[in-house]
Amino acid sequence: KHTGKNRWNVYRPDRDTSREMATRLAWNDRIAQALESNLLRLHFQGVYRAGNGHLAHLEALIRMEDEANPGQLIMPAQFIDHAEKSGKILEIDRWVIQESIRLLAIHPHLPAIAINISGRSFDDPELPAYITAQLQRQHVSPRRLLVELTETSAVSDMGDAARFIAALRRTGCTICLDDFGTGFSSFAYLKHLQADVLKIDGMFIRDLPQERDNQVFVRAIIEVARGMGKQTVAEFVEDGRTLLMLREMGVDMVQGYHLDRPKADHPALREKSDGPASP
Ligand code: C2E
Ligand code: MG
Ligand code: MG
Ligand code: MG
Repeated sequence: KHTGKNRWNVYRPDRDTSREMATRLAWNDRIAQALESNLLRLHFQGVYRAGNGHLAHLEALIRMEDEANPGQLIMPAQFIDHAEKSGKILEIDRWVIQESIRLLAIHPHLPAIAINISGRSFDDPELPAYITAQLQRQHVSPRRLLVELTETSAVSDMGDAARFIAALRRTGCTICLDDFGTGFSSFAYLKHLQADVLKIDGMFIRDLPQERDNQVFVRAIIEVARGMGKQTVAEFVEDGRTLLMLREMGVDMVQGYHLDRPKADHPALREKSDGPASP
């Protein structure tokens, strides 16, 4: 298959100790259960225009309701990895797509939603067609959907990533490279991946006012992005000094606890459509 050799390296049953195997199986069960019993939730965090502070879009962040402890949420850091290894991530990603497009349809004043799609979904050649079908079914413009891809997953096989991203882009959605700057060759492969937006990884943004090196990196990323006609987002904006510095550097959009925390009932989602206008 053209999908390459190192694709399956992630899953090595022979390397698992029996305890790891038991944990893996338990997580597979929980994830399957969550999909079946409707236990997945989306929280939303605002992403704002650095210039005028207007809401650019909401980022959808997944959580899982803990069946054993009602009201408790399991964070993605705990289950996304397992879902990627078992392949269940393909179903999770489709659920996120469908749920976000449903919300865009009932909140016509919401500018856009950004979703996170796993690099494992590069194995799902039907995904772009699935997105288009959902958008058409709900009468939502593809311009209101941003797709964030994590750089590490994109790097594992450049050819696959480039083909997948090109197909995704043909749907009319905006492509964003998440966690930008943390891979091994961020600048080198920028040339091959047709992204519209670079989201600068939080590790460069935290402590920005104190860390001279990070200031140098962030300025360079913004300049390269601008030269290539791409927009930039800075995540993990945790204080006012960082925000001022990013504005001065010319970043396009900002996101972080200083501006907004992820929440289930985001105010931007309160205003609903009144339904079809009566004649
Ligand atoms: P990400 O896409 O880079 O999302 C940013 C993470 O940083 C989120 O954590 C967010 O809650 C957190 N964050 C936002 N602002 C700040 C800040 O100012 N300071 C700090 N310290 N953290 C901040 P979360 O929700 O736990 O998500 C973690 C990762 O899980 C995401 O990183 C993304 O890679 C993945 N993920 C989240 N939702 C989904 C999803 O629906 N599908 C897939 N495939 N992956 C997802
Ligand atoms: Mg993201
Ligand atoms: Mg990120
Ligand atoms: Mg991240």
